[in-house]
Amino acid sequence: MTAETLLVRCAVCGRAFAPPLQVDRATLEALVVSNRYECPHCGSVAVYVKADHFHRLEVGRERGV
Ligand SMILES: [Zn+2]
Repeated sequence: MTAETLLVRCAVCGRAFAPPLQVDRATLEALVVSNRYECPHCGSVAVYVKADHFHRLEVGRERGV
């Protein structure tokens, strides 16, 4: 069983976080995403478009990022 987490990368601190909006790849492609998120790491608020989103496949322990 696999699970994918939708993440965005903070433009300020560069760290990834999971936005409240969680959709799969196909849904993300169909959406015009432009959402305002607050980064949980540094507190910066920015608008994120589709290109800022990426999926990370969760396979057991986290690696990278
Ligand atoms: Zn940040």
